[in-house]
Amino acid sequence: MKKILLIATGGTIASEPSADGLAPSLTPEDLLRYIPDAKDICELDTVQPFHIDSTNVAPSHWLILEDIIEKNYEKYDGFVICHGTDTLAYTAAALSYLIQHTRKPIILTGAQKPISEDSTDAKTNLIDSLRFACSGDCGVAIVFGGQVIAGTRARKTRTKSYNAFSSINFPELASIHDTRVVRYIPYNDDKGPVFYRSLNDRVFLLKLIPGIAEAAFLAALDFCDGIVIESYGVGGIPDIYLDELDELIKKGKTVIMATQVTQEGSDIKVYEVGGRLKKRYKLLETYDMTLEATVTKLMWALGQSKDPAEIRRLFCTSINYDLLF
Ligand code: ASP
Repeated sequence: MKKILLIATGGTIASEPSADGLAPSLTPEDLLRYIPDAKDICELDTVQPFHIDSTNVAPSHWLILEDIIEKNYEKYDGFVICHGTDTLAYTAAALSYLIQHTRKPIILTGAQKPISEDSTDAKTNLIDSLRFACSGDCGVAIVFGGQVIAGTRARKTRTKSYNAFSSINFPELASIHDTRVVRYIPYNDDKGPVFYRSLNDRVFLLKLIPGIAEAAFLAALDFCDGIVIESYGVGGIPDIYLDELDELIKKGKTVIMATQVTQEGSDIKVYEVGGRLKKRYKLLETYDMTLEATVTKLMWALGQSKDPAEIRRLFCTSINYDLLF
């Protein structure tokens, strides 16, 4: 029987009502009491490094998870992380960069309803995750609502429904129907694992809206090393902010152009408002990457090097299916 380490971190799945609303309270042992069938699927150990609503998750928590998995990598066949859904896609993307080329499944899951409620998706998601983690090789992935999504491709697209996550610009890796796992994409990135222990979280997201103040462009100047500009459509910068962009680039900030449009990605060479930036600065862009992957990949790349050419190389390397262009 395979050995899985269950890493419980809080979230709705482990929450119960408090005077102000749902708050994490159940231990990993409590969670397992709700899924007695788990003992027929795998041997389980548990650990609970923190116990929080995922709204409170920060890059320091991603490094804690990386550390637990690195230290226990040889002891277990796979890892299942119970996590709040709100920032689950960020954590999955961050772990995809911190732990690369892993053959052992690192699965993230959670629930829209607490496991203690009569009507809940928690039990199915947890059992599906254990089943998938025992079913063969896989890197970092999310198991939720019967779908398996690559760790770099997920986005929370529904706040309430059980199918809370979508796979953006990439097919699902697999689906799970009761006891049956159907894989659509074979996993073949098993030359690792390679663990990374540093991130630079001095990253800022600037979302453009028509009429945004010029000063907003420079707001991040002092406290950020990397800036993601979430532009419109395939990407571009309004004429009036070109001086500000120039200032950011002159000060050595890594600037990346992203798009507010969820599907199909950026392509800044198409229009003059973007093409001129490509020509002048060789501006980096996200292409088909999700925003969650973009910001966490930038934190990882900035955490590995200060050399602009190396940061560019790391950012443009495809990792855990994050980038197809
Ligand atoms: N606020 C919760 C959290 O992210 C939502 C959830 O888990 O579904 O921890």
